[in-house]
Amino acid sequence: MNSNKKITIIIFTMVTILTIVIVALVALGSRQTGYDSAKKRAYLTADIVKKSLTSHMVNGNMHQRDVFLDSMAQLKEVSDLWIVRSKTISQQFGKSGLGNEIPRDTIDEEVLRTGIERVITTESLKNASLRITIPYTASSLDKPNCLSCHNAKEGEVLGAISLKFDIQEDRISSIAILLNVIGIISLFLIFILIYISKKIKPYTSSFDAITEVLKQVHDGDYSVRAKEGVLKEDKEASLWLNEIIEKLETVLTGIEKNLTAFVHNRVSNVNNDKLLTAKEIIEDISEIYNYKKTIETDLTKEDIYYRLVQVLKDKLLIKSFYIFENDLLKDERTIIFSTKNIKPCCAILNNVKEQCRAERTDTIVISENFPEICRVATCKNDTDYICIPFLINDQKSITIHILCEDKECLKHSKYQIGIIKKYLEETKPILESRMLMDVLRERNLVDGLTGLYNRKYLDEFIDKKMPHELSKGMTYAVMFLDIDYFKMVNDTYGHDAGDAILQKLSSTMKSAITENEFIIRFGGEEFLIIMKNPTVESAEELANRINQEFAKLVFTFNNDSFSKTVSIGYAFFPSDTDQIWKCIKFADLCLYKAKETGRNKVIRFTRDLLKGSDKDNY
Ligand code: GH3
Ligand code: MG
Ligand code: MG
Repeated sequence: MNSNKKITIIIFTMVTILTIVIVALVALGSRQTGYDSAKKRAYLTADIVKKSLTSHMVNGNMHQRDVFLDSMAQLKEVSDLWIVRSKTISQQFGKSGLGNEIPRDTIDEEVLRTGIERVITTESLKNASLRITIPYTASSLDKPNCLSCHNAKEGEVLGAISLKFDIQEDRISSIAILLNVIGIISLFLIFILIYISKKIKPYTSSFDAITEVLKQVHDGDYSVRAKEGVLKEDKEASLWLNEIIEKLETVLTGIEKNLTAFVHNRVSNVNNDKLLTAKEIIEDISEIYNYKKTIETDLTKEDIYYRLVQVLKDKLLIKSFYIFENDLLKDERTIIFSTKNIKPCCAILNNVKEQCRAERTDTIVISENFPEICRVATCKNDTDYICIPFLINDQKSITIHILCEDKECLKHSKYQIGIIKKYLEETKPILESRMLMDVLRERNLVDGLTGLYNRKYLDEFIDKKMPHELSKGMTYAVMFLDIDYFKMVNDTYGHDAGDAILQKLSSTMKSAITENEFIIRFGGEEFLIIMKNPTVESAEELANRINQEFAKLVFTFNNDSFSKTVSIGYAFFPSDTDQIWKCIKFADLCLYKAKETGRNKVIRFTRDLLKGSDKDNY
C-alpha cells in the first residue's frame, strides 16, 4: 500500500472515531434535555393543578374539580393525568365521590407512603413516554396555609398527581438534529480528506518513488534513477540520489571492467550486485598482492610451493588436490603436494607430455565435460577431477589436479579456477627465478649464505650477457654497498651474529629491487647492485631506500639491541665511464668517500672524487 493511501486511511479513521464520539455525546445530551423539559412541564402542571384545587376548595366548588381535571388531561402532550388522595384527606373529608382518586398502581401507593417523587420512562423503537408521580405535601408555608384547612402534620403527604407525557416528538427532533450533525461532519470529513490527500500526494508519491529506487539499488541494480520531483525538496532529494547512484554505477562498473579481468572473472559470474562484486574483487586483489609480497622474499622453491598449497587449502578451500611439477626436458613428473589419504585419478609420472591431456593440449580438463575425458585418469565411482596446466618456462610446468567426490565440491572448484590461475601467474616469475637459482647454485654461481649471486656470476654476466644487452642500447648503474663498523659485530657478538646481519641486509636489498636489478655478494660484507636502464632519480631513490630501510632494523644479540647502517656509492655506465670495471671502481671510490666523511650515506660519482692524473684524464 502506498504512503498516500496509508496516511488517508489513518486520518479517515481518526476523524470517524471523533465523529462517533461527538454524535454519541450529542445524542445522550439531547435525550437528557428531552426528559428534563418533560419533567419541568410535569412540575408546572402539578403546581397548576394544586393551586387550582386549592382555589376550588376555597371557593367551595370542589365538587366540580373533575371538569377542571378533564380539561387539564386534554392538554397537548399530556396523554393521561389523575390525582389520588391520601388516607388523611379521606378521613377528614370523606372518600372522594369521583371514585377515580384512589391509587391506580403501586407507584401511586409508594409516592403516597414515602412522599418521594417517581419518574419512569418507557422507550421502544416507535414510542417514548415519561410517567411522573409527584406528591402533594402539607406545608404551613404555602399560601394559603395548608394546615389551616387540613388536619395534617407539617410535611405529611396529602395526595399525589400522576402525569404521562408522550415524548416521541422530542425524540424525533433530537434524531433530526443528530442526522444534521452527522451530515455536516461527513461533508466536512470528505472535504478534509480530499484536501489533505491532494496536499500530501506530491510528498508521499515522491517518497514512495525514492523508496522504490533505493530498494532496487539495495538489490544491486544501479541502472535505476529516481524521477524528477515536483516540489523543491523532492527535486533536490531525487537529484542527489541520482548523483550518488550514478557515481556508484560509474565507480563499480569501472572496478568490474578493469579489475575483473585481473582476477579472471571469478566473481562477476555469480554476483549481480556490482558493489559486492567490487568488494570481492578488491579482496581477491589484496590477497593476491599479499601472497606475491610474501613469496618474493621466500628463499627457496619449496617455500613458494608451501604458500601455494596454503592458498589452495585455506583461502580457496580446495579440499583434495595434487600439485605436480613437470620436468619438460626429462618428460617426468614429481609430486610436490598431495592431500593426505586421497588417491589421485591420474598416476602418470613419465611420458607426461604425451599422456597428460591437460599438458598436451594446454587446456583445463574437467571430467564433468565428457565421459572419460582423459583416458589415462581412472577414478573411484563418483570422483570428478579438474586438471589445470601451467607453464613456468621451457623447462618446467605445473599441473594442479583437483579431486571432488560431490557436485557441490566440483561447482566450488570450477568457480575457483580463475583465481587459481591468477595465483599461478603471480607465482610464475618468482618460482622461475628460484628454479634458476637452484640451477645456478648447482653451477656455483650463488652465494650459500645469502642466496645472492656471487662474483663468478658477475664475471659471467659481464663477459656474456652484457655485450649483447649493450648492443641493444642498455645502460646500467653500479651500486657498491658496505656495512659500517661491521667488524665490531663479529668481535662483540660473534661470527653467527655477523652472518645473521648479512642475511638481513640481503633480504632488505631483495625487497627493494625489481626485475630490472640484481645483487651480487662482491666480498665479505660488500655488495654490488646492477641496475638496468636506470635514471639518475631511480638510482638515487633505490640507494636511499636501502640505506634507510636497513637503518630501521633492530638487532638483538646477548640482550643488547642495536641498529646498523650501510654506506653506498654509485656510478653510471656508460655515461660516467665506458669501461664496466672502471665504473665498479668509481662506485667503490664513492663508497670510500662515504666512509671517509662519516659513513651511513649515499654518494654518487662525480669527477671531483678523482685525484691526480685520473682527474686530468677523465
Ligand atoms: P667500515 O666498513 O665501516 O670501515 O668498518 P668495518 O668494521 O665494516 O670494516 P671492514 O669493512 O674492513 O670489515 C669487514 C669485516 O667483515 C671483516 C670480517 O671479519 C667481516 N666478514 C667478512 N665476511 C664475513 C662473513 O661472511 N661473515 C661474518 N660474520 N663476517 C664477515
Ligand atoms: Mg664495512
Ligand atoms: Mg668492508
